[in-house]
Amino acid sequence: MNEIIERADRALRAHDLCDHCLGRLFAQVETGTTNAERGRNMRIAVALERSARSEEMPSHELCWLCEGTFDSLDRFAQAAVDKLSTIEYDTFLVGTRVDPLLQDREERLWAEVGGDRAEPVKAELNREIGKIVEARTGKTVEFRSPDVVAVVDTRFAQVDLDIAPIFFYGRYRKYSREIPQTRWPCRVCQGKGCKRCGNTGKMYQISVQEVIGDVFLKAAEGKDHFFHGMGREDIDARMLGTGRPFVLEISEPKRRHLDLEALTALANDNGKGLADFSGLRPSSREEVRQIKAATPDKVYLAEVKAHGKVNKGRVDEVVQSLSQARITQQTPTRVAHRRADLARERTIHELQLMEFDDERFVLRLRTESGTYVKEFVSGDNGRTVPSLSAALGVPCEVTALDVIQVIDNSNEG
Ligand SMILES: [Zn+2]
Ligand SMILES: [Zn+2]
Repeated sequence: MNEIIERADRALRAHDLCDHCLGRLFAQVETGTTNAERGRNMRIAVALERSARSEEMPSHELCWLCEGTFDSLDRFAQAAVDKLSTIEYDTFLVGTRVDPLLQDREERLWAEVGGDRAEPVKAELNREIGKIVEARTGKTVEFRSPDVVAVVDTRFAQVDLDIAPIFFYGRYRKYSREIPQTRWPCRVCQGKGCKRCGNTGKMYQISVQEVIGDVFLKAAEGKDHFFHGMGREDIDARMLGTGRPFVLEISEPKRRHLDLEALTALANDNGKGLADFSGLRPSSREEVRQIKAATPDKVYLAEVKAHGKVNKGRVDEVVQSLSQARITQQTPTRVAHRRADLARERTIHELQLMEFDDERFVLRLRTESGTYVKEFVSGDNGRTVPSLSAALGVPCEVTALDVIQVIDNSNEG
């Protein structure tokens, strides 16, 4: 008797097994067939061997291992199809939750007759249910990054959907000096609602994130939105020019095919006077990673007030001397409570005097990513060296700041 048939014979003497569970023991012996077909052939081979020796034929009552789970493939698949019909998707994958006792019995069988050629029960269930779902829905099984995983609990034929998020790239401009880039939960109640925040759970009632996120979330019938900006500006700074790149993420969307143009128009209407958006297109988690890792130069316009007498000639001189300066910035006092106290070196690539009017003047700066412009002007009590204030010998402060360009790859300037 060949070794494989002999193993099948031993398995069938020890337990009643269905064709699926018998065939799965030898899944890696021969490919290109299903476990059920393989099991059927094994059973016939065992029967032939036994009949040659006038032995009792292998019986097949209820399968000891799966207890008839594989008789319900159709029911599991239909439950998955029904649940999947509640959402929009193009690709899917089936996963299963299986009674742990069933998996224990499978491991016991492997210990008894050898499991080195076997396939685990979940792998077969996932594949066989997936084949039926694929045929019934016309959608495609995708292993790497499916739109949705239908997880079938085979004890109760219950299905949970694990829906992949959707991502959209775009650029935003912010016209308000009173709204933050992202949702800002109340510091006191952490979003639960309290007296301090008037039960809104927020420090700021609206943000760039919410202006667009709420519109997309509603259209996608998703659970929540997340905003991944390529850096951020201070709340009191405007973001102008061609805007700042971001990726919006919507979790658990029931709709994934969105009319980006129409939704952008809605968001722009929603954000009138606060923020607007352009260039929306589908994106990915990979692009979120790139956006978070990017270190674009930025161009600013800074309105500066000098607390003392200055004249244009002197300011011109200082501005020229600091163009292309290498500066050292100790973490600014104003952010020290949330950032590590470090000294960073940054470059002021370009510095120009644009307007001059007694104690008030306007600077245009192109700076390396991560430069604190307000502190470069004020000196931050000696924590930024050199600084405009120190070079001028007169304390200066930024009274209004605009980012007018974020120079990322798509926007080389
Ligand atoms: Zn079985
Ligand atoms: Zn609160």
